[in-house]
Order: sequence, then structure tokens, then C-alpha cells
Amino acid sequence: MNSTFLQSLENCVGSANIIVDAKQLSFWSRDCYWYSPVLKPELDNNKAEVIVSPTTMAQLCEVIGLAVQHRVPITPKGAGTGNYGQGVPMQGGLMLSMVKLDKILDISPSAAKVQAGVKLIDIEKAARAIGAEMRFYPSTLISSTAAGFIAGGAGGIGSLKWGTVWDEGNILGATIVTAEETPRVIEVSSYAEMMGVIHNCGLTCVIADLTYALAPAQVWQQHAIAFDTFEDAVLFGKHLAFDAPFECRLISTHEATITPFFKQLVKLGATPDGKAAVLLIAAADQATVAAAAAKQGGVITWHGAHEDYLKVGKIQLSDFSYNHTTLWAMKADENWTYMQDVFSADKVIEQYQTRKAHYGDAVLTHIEWLKWGGWITPAGLSLVYFKDKQQLWDVMNYCESLGMWVANAHTHKLDEDVRWNGQPILDAKRMWDPHNLLNPGHMKVAIA
Ligand SMILES: Cc1cc2nc3c(=O)[nH]c(=O)nc-3n(C[C@H](O)[C@H](O)[C@H](O)COP(=O)(O)OP(=O)(O)OC[C@H]3O[C@@H](n4cnc5c(N)ncnc54)[C@H](O)[C@@H]3O)c2cc1C
Repeated sequence: MNSTFLQSLENCVGSANIIVDAKQLSFWSRDCYWYSPVLKPELDNNKAEVIVSPTTMAQLCEVIGLAVQHRVPITPKGAGTGNYGQGVPMQGGLMLSMVKLDKILDISPSAAKVQAGVKLIDIEKAARAIGAEMRFYPSTLISSTAAGFIAGGAGGIGSLKWGTVWDEGNILGATIVTAEETPRVIEVSSYAEMMGVIHNCGLTCVIADLTYALAPAQVWQQHAIAFDTFEDAVLFGKHLAFDAPFECRLISTHEATITPFFKQLVKLGATPDGKAAVLLIAAADQATVAAAAAKQGGVITWHGAHEDYLKVGKIQLSDFSYNHTTLWAMKADENWTYMQDVFSADKVIEQYQTRKAHYGDAVLTHIEWLKWGGWITPAGLSLVYFKDKQQLWDVMNYCESLGMWVANAHTHKLDEDVRWNGQPILDAKRMWDPHNLLNPGHMKVAIA
């Protein structure tokens, strides 16, 4: 990295917004790929040569332009909570930290226009102040950034009603910056064009700001519910998801062998030994939920009032859902990892039982109920006790043989993920990143 380039960067953003210290570069070049024992050794030694944090739109464009003129690879970065290593610089270069572009530009009860680095929790708080809320958020709400979630995430708490980042109507538009010598700033709003932006893993453009559709705020309450069997927990979740006796923001379903990992909940007596659990966020009070759960043999073991929802220092059940479940398991024993295994809604019990008979407790089932492509789906983020890569691939293949659908969470290549947008990403990359400098190394196909 030549000194003229570094000096130009410093002239642009000031020395306080540049990192060149080797230790810090190593630290900030990571994301949460280490949840995968396959990705960890593959990605551990990659690092950026400089990290730059623009604070204005003008600086953002100038930094990108400088990098392109010097043909330096650019890795956009939010909070670094991505799980697939898609925020790891594979060819050194410049890491473009977006966290100082953190302003809410405009907010109304129906939409929030926010800069890339705004934390999702700040969108949720600002929305709540005007009677609205995010349609859905990942369990990393507190740390994830607005653009990082859209570029690297999928869905989360609220996705049962609203679907995922890919679903039309959730992300209404974005301002993007191209990776050209003189970067263009483009307003993207059509759904077709947004497919080149959503879940692009930083490969097609840099998102400067984006507009999230919001929903009317609800009075959410949290409930931990214990069941004698996992089958009962799944059937209760299915009933809530399909029959919707009341609105649910989270239906997180766990086998009895998973719940001891949730140390905080164990302490509270929320997850009794030997019981399966449903962690529920619902627009319903204790009596209503208790009556519904009792029909399936469930008992409420812990309740969180609406006043404590998303309040710092209070228990949030979302901290035990989605990939937070894996985190708790890894804290107990680092050999646990996860997979993304989608069950069929009509065969979920049968698929679970067949897999259990085959693998016993080497695979533990964790299901999030959400809407995927318009379908209500029991989406697994199941735990696998890792031996080696072959065993993990065998488990995923076995799930597919049961008619399940598996998204491989152990690759950092976007086009090896079955959910990737395909042609729209390739088209956008050619249009907006003609020198192939954005996040190189995270695609299998060669970009001409
Ligand atoms: C414990 C845990 C739980 C999780 N739970 C969920 C969950 O519930 N749902 C879910 O979908 N995901 C989940 N994830 C994955 C991750 O948190 C989400 O994908 C998250 O929203 C990423 O946001 P981030 O700001 O950390 O992005 P980063 O990790 O910094 O970046 C993610 C990707 O986006 C790109 N990117 C970042 N900013 C920009 C930009 N401005 N322009 C272009 N590209 C950009 C990066 O290059 C990278 O490829 C979880 C991860 C962990 C560790």
C-alpha cells in the first residue's frame, strides 16, 4: 500500500478515522465466521492493510474513488456480526468501516431512511417514539448496522409476519455508491434493481443509506414456555404460526438438551431441566398465552412485561434465539456449531424424529418459525457436535435426503449459498464494480 495513497486517505478523513496499527487491523478484520469450525482456519489470517471510517457522504465517495484509482480492494464493513466471513478482506486492501455514517435521515410511521452505519436498535427506538417499530430485526439488534443486516443478513424477530430481507416491500430503496474512479451515487428503488443490493455481501456496491419499511408498534410481552416433549413444543409453535390466535414476533423452539446452555434463563428457572422450550414474543398477556399453551401441555415458566421489552439490563428472549442459540452452546462446549436446516411445515415432526433416531444428541434441533418466500416455515438453526468437515457435510446431505432444505452456513462464497440472488448480483457487479475491487474472494465464479 503506497504512502501517497495513505496520505490521500488521511487528507480526506483525518488521522482519527484511519487505522494502520497491525494489532487493530487483525482485530477489526474479523467478523463472526468463527462460529463455523470450517471457516475459522480458512479465514483466520486474512486482514486489511488500512481501515478507513468516512464520516460524510463526500468523504465516502472520495475514499472509494481513491481506492479504485489505486486499484486497492475494498471491503465494506458494518458491525462485523456476519457469520459467513463475508466481511473478511481476502486480498488485504482497504476496509471501509461504515459505522460513523450513523444518522437517521428521515422517519415517519411507515418508513425510516437511515445511513448505513445506524445501529438497528436506534432505528427501533426512534420508530417506537412515533408509534412504529421495525418490521423485523436479527437477534443482533443491539450491535448490527442498518446496511450490514441488509447486505449480509436474512431475517429475524418479526419475520413470521413480514418475511425476510428479500421480500418485496420490506426495503424500499437505497442510495448506493459505485466502485469507480469517479464513483456514481445512484438512488435504487425498484424491486428488480434492489435484488442487486439486498444480500450482496458487499460485492456489488457500497450502500450509503437505505429505507426500511416500518410497522405499527405493538405491545409485546415475552414468555418462556416449557413442554414435556419437543414434539409438543413444535406443535404449539405451529399452531401459533398458522392459526395466529394472537400476533407473534418470535417463536423460538428448542429441544430439552439445548436449554441448559441458556445459563441466564436456567438461573431464572425459565428453562426447567428435561423440558423443551418455546421462547415467545407475542402481543398477548400471560393469561392468554397460558391458556393457549396449556392445550398442548405447555406451562409458562417466565414472563417479561412490555415495559421491560428491549430495555437495557433486562432479559430479552431474542438473546437466546436465531444464532444466539449457537453462541450459548459454544460457550458451554466449543465443539458445537450450527447449520441452517429448513424443515417442511407438514412433515416437521417426522423429519425431526427420523433425524433424532439417526444422530441422537449429536444434532440438536432448534427451530425458528418465520415466513420465507411467502410460506410459513419451520427454519432450523440446529446444533451439530462437530467432528470434521466431512461429518458436517454428511449431516447436511442427510437432512436433504429427508426432504429438508439446507443453506450451507460454512462457506464464505456468496454463490455457494442457495439463497443468493444469482443474475441480479452478477449484473449489478458488472455495472457498479467494473474493476472487481469490492470484497474480492467471496465468489466462486470469476467476474470478467
Ligand atoms: C449471535 C449472532 C446472531 C445472529 N442472528 C441473526 C439473525 O437473527 N438474523 C440474521 O439475518 N442474521 C443474524 N446474524 C448474522 C448477522 O448478525 C447479521 O447478518 C447482521 O445483521 C450483520 O450486520 P453487521 O452490521 O454486523 O454487518 P457486517 O458483518 O459488518 O457485514 C455483513 C456483510 O455486509 C457487507 N456490508 C456491510 N455494510 C455494507 C455497506 N454499507 N454496503 C455494502 N455492503 C456492506 C459486508 O461486506 C459483509 O459482507 C447473527 C450473527 C450472530 C453473531
